[in-house]
Amino acid sequence: MSGISDSFQRPINYLRISVTDRCNLRCIYCMPPEGIPLMPRSALLTYEEIQMIVRVAVEMGINKVRLSGGEPLARAGLVNLIRMLSQIKGIDDLSLTTNGVLLKHQAAQLKDAGLHRVNISLDTLKRPRFQEITGYDKLPEVLEGIEQAHKVKLEPVKINVVVMRGINDDELLDFALLSKEGWHVRFIELMPLVNRGIKHPEFVSAEEMYQGLASLGGLEPCSPPTGEGPARYYQLPGAKGTVGFITPISEHFCFRCNRLRLTADGRLLPCLLSDEEIDLRPALETGAPSQEIRRLILEAIASKPEGHRVAQGFVPQRRLMTQVGG
Ligand code: SAM
Repeated sequence: MSGISDSFQRPINYLRISVTDRCNLRCIYCMPPEGIPLMPRSALLTYEEIQMIVRVAVEMGINKVRLSGGEPLARAGLVNLIRMLSQIKGIDDLSLTTNGVLLKHQAAQLKDAGLHRVNISLDTLKRPRFQEITGYDKLPEVLEGIEQAHKVKLEPVKINVVVMRGINDDELLDFALLSKEGWHVRFIELMPLVNRGIKHPEFVSAEEMYQGLASLGGLEPCSPPTGEGPARYYQLPGAKGTVGFITPISEHFCFRCNRLRLTADGRLLPCLLSDEEIDLRPALETGAPSQEIRRLILEAIASKPEGHRVAQGFVPQRRLMTQVGG
């Protein structure tokens, strides 16, 4: 297996796949309350097509694969896809990003099918607030999902918290303290991605979040719980878990971007925060040989931009976060 780099000498080894645009929550920063026009089911890649694309990508040097959505656990039979992907030799890291609502009942099967680990999105520990942020009263389910993920060893379990001023920024200490109990908590800067009539909540920089944790004392830099990634990690004295910060806005990490994204309807996105897409569908529909998929993956890698332009005011128009995979 040979590695592959883009035009800026960044090695590309990570494929992030959205398996559906459907979601069982309506997070205020992600989707309008009435939902979004959904892709017709017939437009979704089948599990066989996803497996075929991943196989080609792995032959080219991809060794990390993450499934996302929409809500990936809302797609029927996801455990079958995990089983199909875990049979591909060369994937060192097979993971899933989920809101955790449906995790409790699926965690053991997912582990058994070959899933290595999960990231769970959770923006508040307060039940009424959970309902305000997501539109649903599902906090107990998510907490049970997290517990179950630990139990079946989908480790490390990482908890992703999008921090919003005046909405959940008073919970930073509570989340950080959970690292003492072994949680790996990551605070994420809000990205200004929705501009379709939704009032966007306000951004808090990672620097401000870090200062907000000063009263805890003793937060020391540490190595990440898994491989490389976009977060910077810290640890409280005696904590088993970590506290991470992901700074897509204040200090973007494009210079070490190693990823490609595949949407549920078969488009390769060279960059999360751009509108460029490369459509695999026509090739798949003609029963494309793997050389054609390989050529299109190379085209997507070659068109990766050097960096996103959000700081210059660019807002992606074509797809919402939930149609891209987060
Ligand atoms: N449903 C799954 C989940 O909730 O994890 C996967 C899809 S969701 C779009 C993936 C991640 O994107 C979540 O952690 C979510 O919080 C994050 N996200 C969505 N919109 C965002 C935004 N505007 N800024 C920062 N993170 C965002």
